Amino acid sequence: MSYERAACALVCAGVCLLLSAQDASAKKSSSDPQVIAARQKFFGAENVDAKTGQVNNDRVIFSWATNTTYAVSVLGRIILLDSYVTRLEVKPGRTPFVIQDVVDLQPEALFIGHGHFDHADNNKNFRLAGAEVMAHTNTKKRLSQPRDVLGMHFDPAPPNALPTQVFSSTEELHANGETIELGYFSPAHTDTDIYIRYVRSNVLHLGDVFFNGMYPFIDTTTGGNIGGMIAGATKALALADDRTKIVPGHGPVGDRAALTRYRDMLVTVRDRVAKLKKSGRPLQDVLAEKPTADLDPIWAKGFTQPDMLVTIVYNTL
Ligand SMILES: [Zn+2]
Repeated sequence: MSYERAACALVCAGVCLLLSAQDASAKKSSSDPQVIAARQKFFGAENVDAKTGQVNNDRVIFSWATNTTYAVSVLGRIILLDSYVTRLEVKPGRTPFVIQDVVDLQPEALFIGHGHFDHADNNKNFRLAGAEVMAHTNTKKRLSQPRDVLGMHFDPAPPNALPTQVFSSTEELHANGETIELGYFSPAHTDTDIYIRYVRSNVLHLGDVFFNGMYPFIDTTTGGNIGGMIAGATKALALADDRTKIVPGHGPVGDRAALTRYRDMLVTVRDRVAKLKKSGRPLQDVLAEKPTADLDPIWAKGFTQPDMLVTIVYNTL
């Protein structure tokens, strides 16, 4: 489905969100012409007051920016999911923008789903725009350290690019009648993964615990493992019903049926590789056996190809 501007009509009185803005040197009034233009770009001119910049407060609007970065208006309160926005986005179905457009949205909060660069870049820009940056405590820890993954090296993030609020288990926020739950997965794709659940809107953001329609990448350098991925998908299924819109880390927006198929695929791969490993077969033998051959035409559609997945599964059993 097209996820842009998927409006859920929720009529609610105002309560509160979180926040005490820090570092707000780039903060602008909502009536600033650039803020109005950015909000109209992401949420549609019909949903943004052309004088005040206020976004329609009777609906929740998700606007897909890039990867798993979404601009969201929760009944008029602007937040951002993930912050990977370093390039001009031109992919069909996404809102075309440059980073200044997203900064000009003036989100009051940014939720970081996990610590990889393609989800957590650009925190600094949003802190400068006055947003609180919320993430799991391990995300702050990982971003504070030098990191190497998939042949790429990342220096520690500067202090002004780190999350401003961290949590270890769960957090519950309230915005104009919507309840937003943030919850930690035990190590799955990394040891920084969280889900973000919009309870009334029935939207569940899973980050890279869910690769919709393709084999996942699992980052073993930060605690990722196949058992955690299966446990994460299972936990997410318990949070979803048949109408839940489920936002993956990669791939199109999915639903409970797609997440179930993905979880079942992971279980199948895990069981096959475990059986071979248990029988004493070294990794090279297991790879030669091609234990995912019948699954590959369906699932080997992304970055992670069969040998990579089997190697990760074998090494994390
Ligand atoms: Zn990732």
